Amino acid sequence: MTDSVQDRKVCTNCSLSYDLEAWQTLALVGYQAAGDPQGRPIAIELRNCACGTTLVVPVLLALLRRRVDDCGERVARTAAQTAIAILSEQVEIAERELRLLRRRAIVAQSRAGVGED
Ligand SMILES: [Zn+2]
Repeated sequence: MTDSVQDRKVCTNCSLSYDLEAWQTLALVGYQAAGDPQGRPIAIELRNCACGTTLVVPVLLALLRRRVDDCGERVARTAAQTAIAILSEQVEIAERELRLLRRRAIVAQSRAGVGED
């Protein structure tokens, strides 16, 4: 078994902690694009703690760990669709930046007179 701390979300404001079941009962604020510690795009789920503080968890992690029951499934599907939309947008932005960087690299190479590819 893994450490149970990873399966709980603790509020930094009031120190209340939530397991998955309790987490899903909190008021859903919405979903947003964010970055993981490595800077990769992820989607996060925002819910309000009983004290009013907005807490976040990564959507995909939450989905994987979520027990899908009748009411959870609809929420999970919405979260997945939102995550896919956010990630698709991030991929588009990344591809655009990559094309720009490649174009700049080609210009820099030709200016430097480097002919190898
Ligand atoms: Zn709290």
